[in-house]
This record gives sequence, structure tokens and C-alpha cells, in this order.
Amino acid sequence: MMSAVKLQSIITCPKCAHAKEETMPVDACQWCYECERCHAVLKPKAGDCCVFCSYGTERCPPMQQQQSCSCCSPTAGTPR
Ligand SMILES: [Zn+2]
Repeated sequence: MMSAVKLQSIITCPKCAHAKEETMPVDACQWCYECERCHAVLKPKAGDCCVFCSYGTERCPPMQQQQSCSCCSPTAGTPR
């Protein structure tokens, strides 16, 4: 049973405050995101697995389902 996972997340650029709704990939995390306005390349903050967790309104789908995010951590399954 999949609980409802939101796939739309609004990313807000920390540099220019430009907000853009993006669709998150279900099975992967997005590590880099380029702001379409100021072209700053955003990277996740420490402890976050992807840019959606750091700058988006919703966390990425694996985090919403409370799974460990294996796509970006080589030591998958180690909870913080
Ligand atoms: Zn920006």
C-alpha cells in the first residue's frame, strides 16, 4: 500500500528567492538543481539527500515513504 506521495515540490532558490514547481523523480534523488533565474547550482545541505529535501516544499519520495535513500548514499540503510 503506497501512501500518497507528493511528486510536485516547489524549490525556492536560496540566492534569489525564485520559486519553481518541479516534478520529482520517484526512484531517484536529484543532487543538483540549477536555478532557472540566477543559474546558481544548488546542492543539498549537509544531512539532506537531495535538493528537494533542502530547498523544496516536499521531501523526496523515498523520504516521504520513510525509506532510506539508497540512490545517493553508498552506505545505504544506515539511519542518521
Ligand atoms: Zn536563483
